[in-house]
Amino acid sequence: MNLTGKQLIGFQKKAAGHRNFQGIQAASGEALPQVFVEATADEANEALTKASSAFKVYRNLSDADRANFLNAIAEEILAIGDVLIQTACAESGLPEARITGERGRTIGQIQAFANFISNPSWKREIMDEAMPERKPLPKPKLVQKQIPLGPTVVFGASNFPLAFSVAGGDTLSALAAGCPVVFKAHPAHPNTCDLVGQAIQRGAQKTGMPDGTFSLVHAQGHEIGGYLVTHPLTKAVAFTGSYRGGKALFDLAVRREVPIPVYAEMGSINPVYLFSDRLATQGEALADAFSQSICLGVGQFCTNPGLIVILDKDREFLTSLAAKLDQMPLGTFLTAGIKQSFEHGFNTLNHHPATQRLTASENAAPSLFSTSVREALANPEVLEEVFGPCTVAVVCQDLAEMIAFTEQLPGQLTATIQAEPSDLAHLDVLIDEVSQKVGRILLNGFPTGVEVSPAMVHGGPFPSTSDARTTSVGTEAIYRFTRPVCWQNF
Ligand code: NAP
Repeated sequence: MNLTGKQLIGFQKKAAGHRNFQGIQAASGEALPQVFVEATADEANEALTKASSAFKVYRNLSDADRANFLNAIAEEILAIGDVLIQTACAESGLPEARITGERGRTIGQIQAFANFISNPSWKREIMDEAMPERKPLPKPKLVQKQIPLGPTVVFGASNFPLAFSVAGGDTLSALAAGCPVVFKAHPAHPNTCDLVGQAIQRGAQKTGMPDGTFSLVHAQGHEIGGYLVTHPLTKAVAFTGSYRGGKALFDLAVRREVPIPVYAEMGSINPVYLFSDRLATQGEALADAFSQSICLGVGQFCTNPGLIVILDKDREFLTSLAAKLDQMPLGTFLTAGIKQSFEHGFNTLNHHPATQRLTASENAAPSLFSTSVREALANPEVLEEVFGPCTVAVVCQDLAEMIAFTEQLPGQLTATIQAEPSDLAHLDVLIDEVSQKVGRILLNGFPTGVEVSPAMVHGGPFPSTSDARTTSVGTEAIYRFTRPVCWQNF
């Protein structure tokens, strides 16, 4: 049995480097047996050189050929069977039901892109008929079509080892668009990445894709990621993860001699606005559902509701919610680093003079803090994302203060309004203000589920993402990796 985890460079496997690491079981902290060799710059260069050659062929394949490749990826992933589920569970600490569900989401997402490109309308062709008789000048025939950008580097997140990883939405939308992908594997789940990467490799071989259409490199630390982003053959970057990582890669990309787009999804605190009539009718059920949403996946969701915005007269609800959270277990974090940063975030809020803890535990646990608008605006650190089950409630004196607070909020992926029609009658100005801050507004739901469908926007103004004009979930994600070309007089 070969226990060396290698780079997948097109159809080859390589491991010329000298630095090794192993996957870690999230629950026990023990190392998994396979030893991964970190990629060298030469290997990363080879992956991009192959991707660039493959692009010449791949971009000219028919949509049907590319759809066939995508469907083969889905089949190969399913064919891995239970080993994939067990490996992803071990590396992430997420329960089997969640990972099995995530595999279903991943497969559905791949098939959605395959179906999407099977309809030629995806290229959004726009035609202006010629008007040869037009005076004073004739009008030429113009046809606009989308073409792929080129080799794309993708960074997956730690919190979705399948759906936002090797065969996640970023990789699949780039491949569907006609862009070869070089994937930087997340060091928190290298074994899972390796299994899925090999499935894509097999899918590419079986369907006759050019060598270099897909590569995967392993590394712990930032060097190789930075190398890939600054490489002249890279034409676009997609990233899901921390603000620090996304912003660092964005800065590298804009400083290049030839800048390239970076689509970084960096998470947010996802405000939930709660209103009186809704609380009067749904209070107890809402506290229950809210506590479940805060603790889902140990709170390790970029759409986790980390901020409640509530009127002072409704603050009683916070007591019920805190009581529910006190009963919730903490669970296993994805990595020791994420656990540590959750503890750090909790301690910062717990000892901050601007916040009051409403939950009982003095140690890091599912928790709720409260603060006022004045304190929150004077101490912006209390509104920083704490990745895990931790929420801060900002208590507003009246609707005017709520609107003023919203105007000061940084960009968010989502905002939720919990309101009855009688509440909504007064909320036009607030909702208009909220729409300026987010990519998705929900009414009477919870932001943690992100539907994969054409109308979805999983994005939002900076700093939730680096480009508010796009989405990283749903079929519209493909247009991050295309650009329009106008054919005149052809
Ligand atoms: P991360 O630390 O940003 O890492 C994501 C990927 O980017 C990894 O492959 C990482 O590789 C690479 N990377 C990060 N910074 C880099 C840099 N400066 N240069 C080159 N490569 C870089 O995200 P994470 O590991 O998923 O989670 C850490 C934190 O991110 C969490 O605590 C949470 O706050 C946030 N998060 C946000 C989301 C979201 O949906 N937006 C999802 C998950 C996590 P190396 O580690 O090898 O450098």
